Amino acid sequence: MDAVLAGIGRVGTMSRKRSRRVTVKAALCAAYSRSIFIVLFAVPACSQPEFLDLRLQMVTEIEQNVRDTSEFIGREALDDTVIAAMAKVPRHEFVPIPQRHLSYLNQPLPIGNGQTISQPYIVALMSDLANIDGSSIVLEIGTGSGYQAAILAEIVEHVYTIEIIESLGRQARDTLNRLGYENVTVEIGDGYRGMPEYGPFDAIIVTAAPDHAPEPLIQQLRPGGRLVIPVGTAGAVQSLQVLRKDTAGRVSRTDTIPVRFVPFTRDD
Ligand code: SAH
Repeated sequence: MDAVLAGIGRVGTMSRKRSRRVTVKAALCAAYSRSIFIVLFAVPACSQPEFLDLRLQMVTEIEQNVRDTSEFIGREALDDTVIAAMAKVPRHEFVPIPQRHLSYLNQPLPIGNGQTISQPYIVALMSDLANIDGSSIVLEIGTGSGYQAAILAEIVEHVYTIEIIESLGRQARDTLNRLGYENVTVEIGDGYRGMPEYGPFDAIIVTAAPDHAPEPLIQQLRPGGRLVIPVGTAGAVQSLQVLRKDTAGRVSRTDTIPVRFVPFTRDD
């Protein structure tokens, strides 16, 4: 899936956010040095310095994308928790080996079965639009590689995610387990019906494009919750929508940016 954002440049400015970058980098480097002592030179992949630099460059580009689209997304910057998650999660662990060298480009990549891992800017934006915090319970429809679930898991209390293609769901579960994400539950099935047994949810993120927001998902939103979903024609450009349920249960809708997601499919 990719965003189709005419005029969005990929080149981020290095200087304006330098102080935050240095802070994030210092924190991650400190964690990295500690890990050297703990694991006795078996450097974990997620802490490898070359990937850290690439990840921080990716974050700089995301921050530039956010500024470039601020008029449409209603914010000049993303929440610090989202930025920290993007700087931490090892995206290369979710990308198939042939594409791994491209992991930190700000673009979608194929993950097999005709599906894609989302563009990092879109992952960060959807996480921010969901308005989540450390006490949130979140549902994701469309696990894919598991990357978006990992980003959410860094921010919230628990992530439930459902994938319709069994092989992808199983692989994502393995990756998330291997990386130690104990607060993610991966299920296989058609996410149209949501996961009512675990709801209601503080936020629901849909990472495939249906032609309408599924009613069961709206029902499973907690009052005050948000549904972030690309709605439109499969194979064409969709609108990234945010549906908010107020405390009285009324639902309002905001359209943000045009996007292009893989189709939302259904079990027969
Ligand atoms: N969030 C993923 C993006 C995956 S692409 C990531 O971070 O990698 C969207 C995924 O949605 C695909 O894997 C596709 O198989 C899945 N999908 C499509 N329709 C679905 C449905 N009805 N229920 C659950 N998953 C679905």
